[in-house]
Amino acid sequence: ETTDLDTPERAQALWQKDKDHFIHPFTDFSRFGTHGCDIITESEGIHVQDAQGNRFIDGIAGLWCVNVGHGRREIGEAMAEQATRMAYFSTFNNLSNVPATLLADKLADLAPAHLNHVFYSCGGSAANDATVRLVHYYFNRLGKPSKKRIISRNNAYHGTTYMAASLTGIASNNWDFDTLDHLVTYLSEANCYRRPEGMSESAYCDHLVQEFEDTIARLGADNIAAFIAEPIMGAGGVLVAPEGYLRRMQAVCRKHDILLIADEVVTAFGRLGHFFASEAVFGVQPDIINCAKGLSSGYAPLGATLISDDMYEVLSRPQGPGGVLSTGFTYSGHPVSCAAALKNIEIMERERICDNVLEVGPYLEERLATLSRHATVGDVRGSHFMMCLENVADKTTRALLPVEARVGDRVADEAQARGLIIRPVGHLNIISPPLIWTREVVDQVVDILDQALSATTDGLRADGYL
Ligand code: PLP
Repeated sequence: ETTDLDTPERAQALWQKDKDHFIHPFTDFSRFGTHGCDIITESEGIHVQDAQGNRFIDGIAGLWCVNVGHGRREIGEAMAEQATRMAYFSTFNNLSNVPATLLADKLADLAPAHLNHVFYSCGGSAANDATVRLVHYYFNRLGKPSKKRIISRNNAYHGTTYMAASLTGIASNNWDFDTLDHLVTYLSEANCYRRPEGMSESAYCDHLVQEFEDTIARLGADNIAAFIAEPIMGAGGVLVAPEGYLRRMQAVCRKHDILLIADEVVTAFGRLGHFFASEAVFGVQPDIINCAKGLSSGYAPLGATLISDDMYEVLSRPQGPGGVLSTGFTYSGHPVSCAAALKNIEIMERERICDNVLEVGPYLEERLATLSRHATVGDVRGSHFMMCLENVADKTTRALLPVEARVGDRVADEAQARGLIIRPVGHLNIISPPLIWTREVVDQVVDILDQALSATTDGLRADGYL
């Protein structure tokens, strides 16, 4: 059967098959029934193309992940080379492979100095899930089995395996799904735009840290294993915490023997201009850093949990006779994924991609900020290549438009009609581009967004929402 899309009929047939058989993640079924999906068929550099031949600037790096851009032949070749030499063999029970070993060594080199041990998984959710198991095991081995609860935050996004979904604090993500409530407690997110009226940013920071202290006092430090945080919250709305927030949260963790887990699935691999952001940008030394996405630039599924020397010392203590560290996946350290990641990191270093982010990122921030002249743009926020527009009905009160107005979808649709893909998340629009955008691309993108926002305002007015 052909998947050749050279006629409109074939493209239509493929669209129908997708609609009939593919259960997509995060589908809005009120729209899917009529719209189905845009099927992306080609990609090159900063562009992608759909089955109808429409070409778009990729404003979301696939899904925060294609950091080195699309169509990197040398990554494909490295994967093909590995797939034909030795596509797969177990990494369980004292077996290993070359790319997984070299990548672990490289990650230990790139990560903060005390993080020298790597546990592999197949993505971000699985990395967070595996982390919770390892953290629980760690405290059990230390004779502190009551330390089980993980402190997360409202609006956090940590994935959708059962545990990762439970760590996720975006309420709408778990509508009619269950969560493991006995294992997780949520703090407030650090949301400077919607902080209490009249409170300074530094007083807001004090308030959030105090909430953490109060929560520990209420639950008992003996019952708390870890605090998990994205250094900048991503899917929850690109929320940049007040200055010093993470350092102070880390200090509270240390005081109470609570591990700090940095979920750097989005922030690592250059999005903020560094291979890892925790220490380089926020001045913290987490006990664990999780990464995925940009680790392989999305060319192959891969997640990695970077573990501190102190924690490894406990995890690596031999168990009693017959006991092993019984956690891991068939595809932990998959050779083809690890070969993709090694080539991806080589490209990032060779092309100094982090330097591009440090140079173009502030320009992106500055140019996007000009969009706040639009009636519906309440906040433009983020850092470097991790940006967000918050759409509102009223900029003074920060009141939201009704959900039915679908403002995020409207802006994204208007942008897509003009050749740019950005991501709608409720009333927000997220921009998380490949890290190879230049200033010229930024100018082009801001022009498109400018027009898309004007068209959105017109549409909202026409429909009586403004
Ligand atoms: N953690 C963060 C911060 C993420 O943004 C994501 C995905 O967007 C995940 C975890 C889940 O990763 P995955 O979708 O690879 O399972």
